[in-house]
Amino acid sequence: MRLIYRDHAVFIPWKRFIAVDIDLPTTETLARLRAVAERHTPATLAASFGAEDMVLIDLLARHRLPISVFTLDTGRLPEETQSLIHVTARRYGLAITVVAPDAGEVERYVSTHGPNAFYDSRALRLECCAIRKVRPLARALAGQRAWITGQRRAQSVTRRALPLQEWDAEHGIHKFNPLADWSDDAVWTYVRTHDVPYNALHDRGYPSIGCAPCTRAITPGEDSRAGRWWWESDEHRECGLHTHRRAS
Ligand code: SF4
Repeated sequence: MRLIYRDHAVFIPWKRFIAVDIDLPTTETLARLRAVAERHTPATLAASFGAEDMVLIDLLARHRLPISVFTLDTGRLPEETQSLIHVTARRYGLAITVVAPDAGEVERYVSTHGPNAFYDSRALRLECCAIRKVRPLARALAGQRAWITGQRRAQSVTRRALPLQEWDAEHGIHKFNPLADWSDDAVWTYVRTHDVPYNALHDRGYPSIGCAPCTRAITPGEDSRAGRWWWESDEHRECGLHTHRRAS
């Protein structure tokens, strides 16, 4: 496959190339998803609506795989992400489960520490992520036998050892990362080839997108997750949703 892209005015690392010859690992990935659907029902995809999640949603919808989709609405998501959730549901005729944080916990945190207290200390940042992401995730996974993520090894130093399959001891279910070995080019070639909708922020220098106040655009040479919690050091740029252990 040979694609030719134009250069962009802003730095967009996944569009830095002019041409690329690439064989998409779609067949292997589809086999991984089918295996999850056959052996670990019910299974669910955790979608934050980054480009990787859009590849997975497209594969699930295109091949009618019985795997549900949910997202964590932290209450601080960018408008562009909200818009993409809406567009995705319409495009694929998909019922997306939206899981919100406990309103009382959010109210207590904001009243006690302030709405943007996550900038004040790592402890307050992790507490905010625990309230808005980690505990809602546990609720979303209750009753599931497996969950799927769009994580990739190439995304950051924190994900270099990401396995294709893990045992998630915290939630007591299997966890699959079927795009673990996909490159940036593979993800974007898939998106372009299949005309998959994607977050408008990707075109403004945001390769990784989370909550609005904790995500910024990156600059040339930076890790693709450098814009997440950019005021913290590289090895801390995770929110507590993902800990990696190989399946035994
Ligand atoms: S990413 Fe930021 S706003 Fe979102 S839950 Fe974590 S600390 Fe809170």
